[in-house]
Amino acid sequence: MRIVLLGPPGAGKGTQSERLRARYHIPQLSTGDMLRAAVSAGTPIGLQAKAIMDAGHLVSDDVVVGIVADRIMQSDAQNGFILDGFPRTVAQAEALDSMLISKAMRLDGVIELDVDESVLVSRIHNRALETAARGGVVRADDKPETVKARLDAYKAQTAPVSDYYARHGSLRRIDGMMPIDEVTDQINRELDTLVGSAAMASSRS
Ligand code: AMP
Repeated sequence: MRIVLLGPPGAGKGTQSERLRARYHIPQLSTGDMLRAAVSAGTPIGLQAKAIMDAGHLVSDDVVVGIVADRIMQSDAQNGFILDGFPRTVAQAEALDSMLISKAMRLDGVIELDVDESVLVSRIHNRALETAARGGVVRADDKPETVKARLDAYKAQTAPVSDYYARHGSLRRIDGMMPIDEVTDQINRELDTLVGSAAMASSRS
């Protein structure tokens, strides 16, 4: 099962990816997590990405595409994966298509979580408060001014990715403002339908 999970920051991609990981026993590949790991490890990519991430902007397509290309070749991703936070630009979506074609792979589904901007802002704010209350480290990019930059980047650069998949792939839009379990049920239903139709199509050919 190869799934792309699209949606703005705070839409619940991390939570739902975790549930998909448990359901399908496939890894969650979060480019945000991979980049944060590179920043913490002080790798050349991390050093390059840190200021861009702290400002809420997007890291360059070349860097992110390179990370994903390496990651999907690892053994745990051979039976599938959930891409969380990638692709975030149409150029990344095109690069992913080429990558998958060259490996004779394809996406089984693209799920987009729709959430109103005001809800996103308050979710991210609450997440930061809860993390601080637990004594955890609040993400540098969860500061209000950076959240605005991240949402602007989403609207300008990532929203066109959902149009791309509406034209080229199996996009399913889901109301991400429903209770968490209902979002999960809806995602599962959509993926079951997509996989069922693909199986019927291949049995006919
Ligand atoms: P996330 O954890 O998905 O919210 O990502 C945190 C930050 O990492 C983003 O605000 C970007 O700066 C960077 N990032 C993550 N994924 C990508 C991507 N696919 N393309 C460019 N930048 C990314």
